[in-house]
Amino acid sequence: DQCDLFQRAWVEIDLVALATNIQRLCALLSPQTSLMAVVKADGYGHGAVTVAQTVLRSGASCLGVATVPEGIQLRKAGIKAPILILGAVISSEQVHALVRWNLEATVCSEQQAQLISLTLESLGKKLPIHLKIDTGMSRLGVSWEEALQFGRLVSGLPGLEIASVYSHLATADDPNPAVMQLQNQRFQRALGHLESLGIKIPKLHIANSAATLSDAKLHYDMVRVGLAMYGYYPAPHLRSRLELTPVLSLKAKVTQVKTIPAGTGVSYNHQFIAKEPTAIAVVGIGYADGVPRQLSNRMQVLIKGQLVPQIGAIAMDQLMLDITSIPKVQPGDVVTLLGKQGNLEISAEDWAQKTGTISWEILCGFKHRLPRVAH
Ligand code: PLP
Repeated sequence: DQCDLFQRAWVEIDLVALATNIQRLCALLSPQTSLMAVVKADGYGHGAVTVAQTVLRSGASCLGVATVPEGIQLRKAGIKAPILILGAVISSEQVHALVRWNLEATVCSEQQAQLISLTLESLGKKLPIHLKIDTGMSRLGVSWEEALQFGRLVSGLPGLEIASVYSHLATADDPNPAVMQLQNQRFQRALGHLESLGIKIPKLHIANSAATLSDAKLHYDMVRVGLAMYGYYPAPHLRSRLELTPVLSLKAKVTQVKTIPAGTGVSYNHQFIAKEPTAIAVVGIGYADGVPRQLSNRMQVLIKGQLVPQIGAIAMDQLMLDITSIPKVQPGDVVTLLGKQGNLEISAEDWAQKTGTISWEILCGFKHRLPRVAH
């Protein structure tokens, strides 16, 4: 088995959970609404190619990535579905790559629209583009107030085939929908301006996972789903909307077992000192794999179906457990750092809470040193 081959530590990807999450998300959508699977950052750390192949078979109709190389990686793996680069394309070299690899561009400023158009003209090519309107995220996009002027410019530029108009929500995970609704109103205003110019807009989209779960009025022609398809909820109040199963588990093996006398310090700076004779297990995973060092002495892991405390500073490649309560732990035993053993489960949300971040950051924090084992 692949885990034996890699020995030390790995990320496990549950493709059945992923496919089921996508099917459930698609079931929330009306038949006219399609689902873009967001697979940037190597599929939120799950492995972009495997994730893309699975979700396209399960109901997603296209893919979103952040960068041109991320799109190229998917094309090289033989993926044929439409791929939108959600980030900004700012050089003619990037436009050449879009044409060569059949990738679609986000257009978020007049300057960028001109650059893309000029490059396309020199190549004698056309490219599907997606106009990005900034309705309140203050990130990429033309201000909703400037949509009319932007629309005039873009519709006169050769080579640009408008495939969609979209925006991104800043607060869709907030139980108070006021800002989200304001963004939607601004989106509508911008669309009104574009339509007044006679611009044909094949698709509209604004919803991320949170808006997909919270408000069907925001689904438009497509939703762009990231976190939810990986089995996590953007916020606790959205839990009741749909059952989702985490796709990623993090596992590692015990490499050594020993007993230390009372008073013995464990790991760098002896942040843990054994109060009594303590059985410890050394595990082959550390912060260089993406286990946050901030979790030192503050997390539990699963071994033999039981929760045990991690003790001492988490090192670069290793960490220690107090296994005094569990007899017969041996090198080679599998430790689950994230995921399930029996009825017990540790989630990326637990880690996010303890480290003051969000589950998105935990998931895409696992390094490439960890093989992704999909099944
Ligand atoms: N759309 C855009 C433009 C994004 O940047 C992202 C991710 O941050 C998403 C959609 C998906 O967001 P989520 O993971 O919250 O579903």
